[in-house]
Amino acid sequence: MKCFQRISEYLDGELEDKICREIDEHLRQCPECREYVDSLRKTIQLCKGTAVEQMPIDIHDRIRSKIRELLRM
Ligand SMILES: [Zn+2]
Repeated sequence: MKCFQRISEYLDGELEDKICREIDEHLRQCPECREYVDSLRKTIQLCKGTAVEQMPIDIHDRIRSKIRELLRM
């Protein structure tokens, strides 16, 4: 499950462009990660779509704990 760790950073935007491209490449070959990223992206987009003031303060924490949950799988 090493790839999941990088994906959480990737979604956080903490990785360099070069590494992001490597992950994009990996996602093409790994349906498991693709599914995982898709669901996380939907969650993030959903958050961004709502007014920032209405966004629960702990949303980022919730996403992170979701990632941690998935890492333990
Ligand atoms: Zn993978």
